[in-house]
Amino acid sequence: MKKINLDWDNIDTVFLDMDGTLLDLHFDTHFWMEHLPKRYAEEKSVSAEVAHDAVTKHCQSIEGTLNWYCLDYWDNHLGLDVVSLKHEVADRIAIREGVEDFLNHLNQLGKRSVLLTNAHEKVVGLKFGYVEIEHFFDDVITSHSLGLAKEDERFWGALDKQEDFDRQRSLFIDDNLHVLRAAQQFGVANLLAIHQPDSQLGPKHTEEFTAIESYQQLM
Ligand SMILES: [Mg+2]
Repeated sequence: MKKINLDWDNIDTVFLDMDGTLLDLHFDTHFWMEHLPKRYAEEKSVSAEVAHDAVTKHCQSIEGTLNWYCLDYWDNHLGLDVVSLKHEVADRIAIREGVEDFLNHLNQLGKRSVLLTNAHEKVVGLKFGYVEIEHFFDDVITSHSLGLAKEDERFWGALDKQEDFDRQRSLFIDDNLHVLRAAQQFGVANLLAIHQPDSQLGPKHTEEFTAIESYQQLM
C-alpha cells in the first residue's frame, strides 16, 4: 500500500477523531440503525415502523448538530437510558486495525496526541471501559465541552482559545468530511480522511481528501 507522505518534522500536534477513525464505526451503525430501534419498540410496545421513525428518521433530521451527539437529548427524546442500551451491544466496540501501533508511533515521535470527538463524555467513558486506548492520549476533548459540534465552522476558533496548538503544525484525522472541511476552513494544514470507517460497510468516497486505508501508510 502506498505511503502517505507527511512532513513529520513540521507536525507537533495530532488531533484524532474517535468513532470511525480509531474505533470501528460498526458499533455505532449497529446501535443506531438496529439495536436502538429494536429496543425502543420493545420498551414502548410500538411497531418496528414507529420505532424507526422515532429513532432513525429523527437522527437524520438533527444529524451534525450537537443534539445528535448529546446523550441527555436522546434520553429525553426517547425516554430511554441510552448508555445502558449501549452496554448491551458493547462487544461490538473495537479498535481499528493498526491504530495501537500508530498511536505508539506518535508517542515515540514525541507528538502530542489529542482525541477530538463529538461523542458525549459518558460515551467516551463507556468506550474507554471496553477498549484500552485512553492511555495513548495527551488530552481528550469533547465538542460538548466547547458547546459546538466539530461540523460547526466556529468549533476550531473555540478550540484555539482553549488549547495551545499551531494550526500550521497540526494533523487532523477524521472520517467525517463536513468536519474535515470545517478544519480546513480554519487552516489546519494536514487533513486526512478514512477509507472505510465501518468494517461492515463498503469504502467511503472521501472527495478532495486523502484517505487512510491502513495506518501502516503513516508509519
Ligand atoms: Mg467519526
